[in-house]
Amino acid sequence: MSRNHWRNAAVEQVAFPPLTDNITVDLVVIGGGFTGLNAARVAAREGLRVCLIEANTIGHGGSGRNVGLVNAGLWLPPDQIKQTLGYTRGERLINDLGTGPDRVFDLIKTYEIQCDAKRSGTLHLAHSSHSISDLRAREKQWQSRGAPVTLLDSQTTAHHVGSDMYHAALFDARAGVIQPLDYARGLARAAAEEGVQIYEKTAAIRIKRDDIWHVTTNNGQVRSSKLLIATNAYNKFTSATQLYDTSIVSYFQCVSQKLAQRNFDAILPDHHGCWDTALIMSSFRKTRDNRLVFGAMGETDGAIGRHIHDGWAQRAIQRIFPNIKIELSQSWSGRIAMTKNKIPEIMRLGIDGYAIFGYSGRGIAPGTVLGEQFGKYTVTEDESDLCLKLTDNYRETFTYLKSSYYESGARVFHIINDR
Ligand SMILES: Cc1cc2nc3c(=O)[nH]c(=O)nc-3n(C[C@H](O)[C@H](O)[C@H](O)COP(=O)(O)OP(=O)(O)OC[C@H]3O[C@@H](n4cnc5c(N)ncnc54)[C@H](O)[C@@H]3O)c2cc1C
Repeated sequence: MSRNHWRNAAVEQVAFPPLTDNITVDLVVIGGGFTGLNAARVAAREGLRVCLIEANTIGHGGSGRNVGLVNAGLWLPPDQIKQTLGYTRGERLINDLGTGPDRVFDLIKTYEIQCDAKRSGTLHLAHSSHSISDLRAREKQWQSRGAPVTLLDSQTTAHHVGSDMYHAALFDARAGVIQPLDYARGLARAAAEEGVQIYEKTAAIRIKRDDIWHVTTNNGQVRSSKLLIATNAYNKFTSATQLYDTSIVSYFQCVSQKLAQRNFDAILPDHHGCWDTALIMSSFRKTRDNRLVFGAMGETDGAIGRHIHDGWAQRAIQRIFPNIKIELSQSWSGRIAMTKNKIPEIMRLGIDGYAIFGYSGRGIAPGTVLGEQFGKYTVTEDESDLCLKLTDNYRETFTYLKSSYYESGARVFHIINDR
């Protein structure tokens, strides 16, 4: 049994062999998450010979560990994106990612992906009265673009959550929830159906370029005209220097024991997914097998982190739903790659080589969209197919210190906010 509930409860099953040969393709994709899988799928559909290599199994990274909130846009509100990227670039990104959930739910339908998809919207919960103004500003910005985003009062929020703990909520009707590992595996099945050669347990060990790209793996080699590195926060290359470096935020989730039907129905009756406005945020949602999944910032792979964060989570969930006995059991963690401005990057790595990374905690719809756009771009070579400007370099300093600071902050918060 894995500590990751998504793995234990997955319905989509896929298995691909390791690469044990030398092969030649038009595009090699490194990393079997949403970004790599969708880029590979689209490029193969457009007629390229494509292979995707994954060091572990499909969905090993963030794609198989996340909360499953299919949200529109990025974490940053639209106006902040425009301030950072400028009007034209900002507008393009906001528009393309604003319709990101459409792309995810369309793919789920087209390829009949069994990922427990529920498109009933998400709730961004105000944990304090002060945070309502931030939600109101987001509502105004999205509504001015015609998006179905509404601020709910405390009573309506209590009705939708099954708890009167929150002061308000921003409801986004474009969004929904999925079982993320099932979605990643379904995308892999779709990519294979479109002709992508997928290899699991195949790590890229060395990458170099002469007239073409050479990717050396543990037991084989890929020669390819084009390269996409889609390893996001899991970018481990044994012999290469770091291709890019971002700070990392860890996020953990605990799954509950199965809830009695009447308790299950009392919590989030419309199956919304939610997260709150706290600086050290938390999230919760339901699963198809009558459980609640509760998550927050922090890393629970080590014994100390597990003790602090799991203990806090158990007490926090009981404060939200005081009348329901909820026993949280095993937890798992994942790594989130944060960029300096919290906007993802498409970085050029020399001729015909690229890396896409830095979703800063929102990568289901953005990873799907950027993957799709990149898959198309490999064929057209038209940069206007991409909603982000290509960058030639991404450098961030003190990433280790920043990552340690985030984890220490989460630990301190969970120790002192436990009343
Ligand atoms: C706990 C958690 C909760 C989150 N919640 C949400 C959410 O609710 N909604 C949302 O939109 N986003 C969420 N995110 C963000 C989202 O999950 C990620 O942005 C997204 O999954 C990134 O997808 P990806 O394909 O770019 O990378 P990943 O899914 O991380 O895939 C990278 C893959 O590369 C592989 N790899 C690494 N090195 C090599 C190598 N050398 N050779 C071969 N393969 C290699 C890894 O094994 C991994 O499978 C969350 C993230 C985490 C961690």
